[in-house]
Amino acid sequence: QVTDILAKEGPSSPSYDWFQTESLVTIVIYTKQKDINLDSVIVDHQDDSFRAETIIKDYSYLIHLGLSHEIQEDFSVRVVENVGKIEIVLKKKENTFWKSLGHSLENHNSFIPKKDAGLYYRRCRLISKEDVTHDTKLFCLMLPPSTHLQVPIGQHVYLKLTITGTEIVKPYTPVFDSLLSEFQEPVLCNSKYIYFLIKIYPAGLFTPELDHLQIGDYVSISSPEGNFKKSRIEELEDLFLLAAGTGFTPMVKILNYALANIPSLRKVKLDVLSIKQEDDIIWRSQWEKLTFKDKRFDIEFILSAPTSEWNGKRGYISPALLSEFLKRSSDKSKVLICICGPTPFTEQGIRLLHDLNFSKDEIHSFTA
Ligand code: FAD
Ligand code: NAD
Repeated sequence: QVTDILAKEGPSSPSYDWFQTESLVTIVIYTKQKDINLDSVIVDHQDDSFRAETIIKDYSYLIHLGLSHEIQEDFSVRVVENVGKIEIVLKKKENTFWKSLGHSLENHNSFIPKKDAGLYYRRCRLISKEDVTHDTKLFCLMLPPSTHLQVPIGQHVYLKLTITGTEIVKPYTPVFDSLLSEFQEPVLCNSKYIYFLIKIYPAGLFTPELDHLQIGDYVSISSPEGNFKKSRIEELEDLFLLAAGTGFTPMVKILNYALANIPSLRKVKLDVLSIKQEDDIIWRSQWEKLTFKDKRFDIEFILSAPTSEWNGKRGYISPALLSEFLKRSSDKSKVLICICGPTPFTEQGIRLLHDLNFSKDEIHSFTA
């Protein structure tokens, strides 16, 4: 009965079909939706299982098959946006005629709420690990050639390691390798590399293990999760980003996307509240270059425990600090405030924003 209700309320179920030439097999997914793009579909071929998960609104449509014949490692994914069609083009290993595509595996052809779909992991290689500050590192992981996955802006993934026989997972938000990389969708679409800025906590459970990995070692990465929708920044005039500590990771792609793609945008302001000393500010010179490059962008670092030499702003999040920071470009400008950091910071921030009369629709907080 519950399924009936969901079926009535949710989007209509996609369907799929396939066809072949001598050397190729094309699987076509008809999503029956128009706002589909390359990050709506995640494809994995590993251990005799072929999976293509399409995310449509808050639902997941799964193709899950044991293919009838072998295919080559790499494949291509195309999206015909105006008709909502996804094409996955597989290369046959041998040029033979396939009588069938394959046999169904668990949940094949299912269309269920995403929250019930479970997370799927694939093993990724550690390509590089660079110090960014004394306790924060930039990790680069490479997806397998037989995976198509793009993390939508504002979303996170889970990293998984087996630590003393137990699988441990923690969420992390991908960033760019540098702030100044232009937001060029086609380049990013084909990228096999995913970058993370991760703070290592010496007494932590997960991050010391991650830090001990050698180049070439494997980490599993889940499919993306998160409730941030790109549509929230369309037609925006003012974007305010409030980040504490590593809470600035979701802001990196959001601000980059907004600056490159939202013509209505007049102002983007990022406030980074960090407990660290001046020297430890992540990507400081890059932020400064970005301020110089784009006049709409401004950044402020507010240290809660600075040395006496610090002549910038100091303190915790407060009504005074927020009212100074959140200056709209005009009285009725369309505004979004994104907030991310330790839970007490985020919760206090939301309370203060409500006190300052910002509505729910004007605030997005990042949580797991
Ligand atoms: P933990 O074992 O969780 O410990 C962290 C610190 O707390 C240590 O110093 C530890 O000693 C202390 N601690 C642990 N338990 C207690 C206790 N009971 N009492 C007192 N102190 C305690 N982090 C990033 O660096 N980059 C990101 O991009 C990022 N993205 C995230 C995205 C989301 C959606 C969320 C929810 C979190 C994100 N995080 C990110 C945080 C990340 O998921 C981990 O929480 C973080 O890396 C710490 O993991 P850990 O297992 O090493 O440390
Ligand atoms: P941190 O402990 O160094 O604190 C950073 C700043 O947060 C402090 O300088 C202070 O300004 C503020 N702060 C801390 N505790 C506060 C409190 N009780 N009240 C008000 N302000 C407070 O931060 P960190 O070690 O870099 O950790 C960052 C946090 O952000 C982690 O908890 C992580 O889970 C979270 N995070 C979440 C996401 C997400 O949800 N998408 C992404 C990245 C990081």
